[in-house]
Order: sequence, then structure tokens, then C-alpha cells
Amino acid sequence: MLPVIALVGRPNVGKSTLFNRLTKSRDALVADLPGLTRDRKYGEGQLGEDQNYIVIDTGGITGDEQGIDYEMAKQSLQAIDEADIVLFLVDGRAGLNPADEVIANYLRKTSKPCHLVVNKTDGLNPDVVIGDFFSIGLGHPLAIAAAHGRGVTSLIEYVLEELPELTEESLEVMAQVQKGIKIAVVGRPNVGKSTLVNRLLGEERVVVFDKAGTTRDSVYIPYERDGRNYTLIDTAGIRRRKSIREAVEKFSIVKTLQAVKDAHVVVMVIDARDGITEQDMHMLSFVIDTGRSLVIALNKWDGMTAEEKDEVKEQIERKLEFADFARMHFISALHGSGVGNMYDSVEEAYDCAMAKWSTSKLTRLLEDIVADHQPPAINNRRIKLRYAHQGGSNPPIIVIHGNQTKSLPGSYKRYLENKFIKVLAIKGTPIRFEFKSSE
Ligand code: GDP
Ligand code: GDP
Repeated sequence: MLPVIALVGRPNVGKSTLFNRLTKSRDALVADLPGLTRDRKYGEGQLGEDQNYIVIDTGGITGDEQGIDYEMAKQSLQAIDEADIVLFLVDGRAGLNPADEVIANYLRKTSKPCHLVVNKTDGLNPDVVIGDFFSIGLGHPLAIAAAHGRGVTSLIEYVLEELPELTEESLEVMAQVQKGIKIAVVGRPNVGKSTLVNRLLGEERVVVFDKAGTTRDSVYIPYERDGRNYTLIDTAGIRRRKSIREAVEKFSIVKTLQAVKDAHVVVMVIDARDGITEQDMHMLSFVIDTGRSLVIALNKWDGMTAEEKDEVKEQIERKLEFADFARMHFISALHGSGVGNMYDSVEEAYDCAMAKWSTSKLTRLLEDIVADHQPPAINNRRIKLRYAHQGGSNPPIIVIHGNQTKSLPGSYKRYLENKFIKVLAIKGTPIRFEFKSSE
């Protein structure tokens, strides 16, 4: 689970500059889910070799919001809600501003760890500049120059170290979680995620656990079923949800992203009554980009007319071709129909995502495939494919070695890939192929 750092402060204090510095040279988080966020930007940062975190940039708060500014301030407040750590940026050149005090008042009331960061201290004496800001009452101000990178790495080191430690009890649950298949249930608000989570759990006795020190509403539910261990990662937060309205407000992109990244198998829930929406498509592309295995549930299948069902099936053909590796289930989470079968698909997707194949097996398979249908000749030389080995799992990667592989036509690659998928009986997980040339 990645820690989440939110950047807040008045406009022009340097939030975007800091955001860009922290996330630069990193792949974008693909948090590009249009229609779900407005002014918040999400990115992934990295400290050292392996400490990753999520950064949220916000529109900026002035403390005196009306109209569009009010909307921006609301975005900032939601970002604070999603964060584990809040960095409150102020402008060291402009000095203390009344609006800073308004924001500080708000931050003092939240339970999140907040740090006061004085930016634009380049060319100034940091010790003198921060003197101005002690009176704000958020502890020792930290001086940086985001535009030049000064103090930025030590700032992140410092704030990540301050994250609360996991308690004894939560460590125990985490050990339980590590044992089994982690299933993330994701989807738009109101599609039936909570209802499905309850159905999947059935009568199992569970200890619901909110991971301490991370995003507030992430709920991990380890349990046993037929002697196997599972953990449901519930992005809807079944325990706290009091009304549908509240669930809508609590829908969190960060939570969804983290759950997907942390899962072995993603169960993507779609409300069949709404058809396949743009937002469903975006979320699905994100899941597929992360390489997670996938099971799709078309929910609320109860009480739909034959015509409506045909319409949805037609949409699936047309829009979901890119997800055709996933099993699809038409279910009613409310009545329970079709839900039990989903476990078979989850197991299958997990087994395929984690499968291990020996180099000799893959190479034999490659030889058979090539014997059936040779690659074409390029410049009068036949392209030779010599051997194959596994380059990784979850998602599986198959590396194929030969010569002139760069010249392999797309149609031949597809032939090869489809054969591998068929013979290895891979279902439920995306699979990646890499071609390596020895000359
Ligand atoms: P935001 O509105 O809070 O996102 O602020 P921006 O990141 O857009 O920065 C506002 C202005 O401050 C830009 O002109 C930046 O170049 C400038 N700025 C940001 N960081 C620094 C810094 O460390 N030193 C100086 N001198 N200027 C900075
Ligand atoms: P979430 O926001 O995705 O967790 O959605 P909920 O599980 O809270 O469900 C939203 C609404 O859809 C609730 O009123 C559920 O009773 C209803 N619902 C969930 N699953 C089904 C289903 O299979 N059929 C029907 N008819 N309603 C459902």
C-alpha cells in the first residue's frame, strides 16, 4: 500500500512545481479517470530504490472561496481526506499571508499529520525565512526551493518516516492477508460492490480491518472458504457505509488505484442496467494497464427484460473486446444468483497469473508452433525463433529469442501469441510477449 501525500496551499506558492519535481521521470499513475476528478492531479513519486508514494496536487485554497474558487477549495479538502500526510506549502518570499492562517486553522482540526513547508527559499537564508512562520502553529517549518530541488528529498524522507507504525493487531491481520488470494472489488459508486462483497463472504466469520497509517477507508477482509485463504479488498467500505449518498461521496480514486495495485485478481463490477459507461471503460483500461488479472461482473441482471439483456450483450461485444481475456459473469449480487461461480474464475485467473513454465516446456511449444507455420523470410533470410523462457509472472511474460525478431510481422506475432495462450490455457490474466534478437 503506497502512502499518499497531498499538497495544499494558496495558489502560486509552488505546489505544481513541487508536484512535477516529485513525479518527474516516473510513469504517470494513469490516474487519468476523466469525469471522476476535476482539479486534482495524481502522480507517483519514488524515494530511493523502492519507497514509492502517491502525490496529490490540488487546485489551491485561498480561505475566501466563492464560485469556482469554492469548487477548487472543495477539491483540496477532499485531497486532504484521501491523504496520509498533508504538506501545507507557503511562499517564503511573500511572507505570512492571512489566507495561510485560514488554511492552517482548518488543518489543525484534521487528524492527519500536517507539515508546514516554506517554499522559494532559494537565495535566502532559510533560518531567517522560516522564522516568520512559527506563529502559524504547525510545528517547525521545513524550508525548500521546489524549483531548484533544494531540501525536497530530505523533506520527503522526513515526512515518510513520521508515518504511524502498524499496531500488533494489524500486523497479525496483515500476516493473514499475505497468505491468500487478494481480490479487489472495484467499480463506480452504486454498481453493487458492497452487496457483492457481502455475498462473496457469505456466512464466513470475518475480522474487518482498516489498514492503519494508510488511506482511511481501505478495508481488508481476510477469510477462509473451502479451506482456501482469501482477502477481499473492499473499496466501498462496507462497515462505515450508512447510506448510498455517503458511499457516493466517499468514492475515492486513490483507494481504487491502491486496491488494484495491491490485488492479485480484480473483480470489476458493472451495473448492467446502466450499460457499459465511459467511466467503466476508463477504470477497466486502468486495471488492464496495471497487468492485473480480471473477472468482470455484470451486476443487477435480475429483473431485466430480454431486450435489455441483449442490448448489454451487444455493447459488451462492441466495447469490451480489449478485455476479452477476462471471464464475464452475469449476476445478481442482491439475490446471490451467479455469485458462487465467480470463485472458479478468480482461482483460474490467479493460477494463470502466477503460473510457472520451464524454459524447456516453452521452447518445445515454440518449436511446435513454428513447425506448424514458419515465420516469413526477410531479405532472403528466414527469421529464426530459437527458444522461449518466462520473464515474469502476474502478469506472465514470455520472452522469445531468435534472430531478426524486429522484422517479425504483426500478424505472425499474433498467431504465435494466440497459440501460446491457447496451449497454455491462459484465462483471466493479460499476458505479455517480448521478442529478443541475438543479432
Ligand atoms: P501553485 O499555484 O501553487 O501550483 O504554484 P506553481 O508551482 O505554479 O508556482 C508559482 C510560481 O512560483 C511559478 O512562477 C514558479 O516558477 C515559482 N516557484 C515555484 N517554486 C519556486 C522556488 O522554489 N523558487 C522560486 N524562486 N520560485 C518558485
Ligand atoms: P456500491 O456503492 O458499489 O457499494 O453499491 P451498493 O452495494 O451499495 O449497491 C447500490 C444499490 O444497488 C443498493 O440499493 C443495492 O441494494 C442495489 N443492488 C446491488 N446489487 C444489486 C442487484 O444485483 N440487483 C438489484 N436489483 N439491485 C442491486
